[in-house]
Amino acid sequence: MAGLVRLVLILFIGWIAYSLFRRWLAGTSSSAGRKQDIGQMVRCAKCGLHFPRQEAFTKHERYYCCRDHMQQDQH
Ligand SMILES: [Zn+2]
Repeated sequence: MAGLVRLVLILFIGWIAYSLFRRWLAGTSSSAGRKQDIGQMVRCAKCGLHFPRQEAFTKHERYYCCRDHMQQDQH
């Protein structure tokens, strides 16, 4: 019976270590992704202004600085 308890304990510790490792891995990859998003700049297809990609309006794979420019640019 003592052997079974030890086995369960080892599995439990292993599972904790694995989940902590997964959490650490997810944390490092998501922070790297955020850094990449901030660094990426795009150009408005209407006025040529450069701005962060996360603030862009997109239509037909083009980027626009605002909704007005997206609607004005007809292609
Ligand atoms: Zn614009």
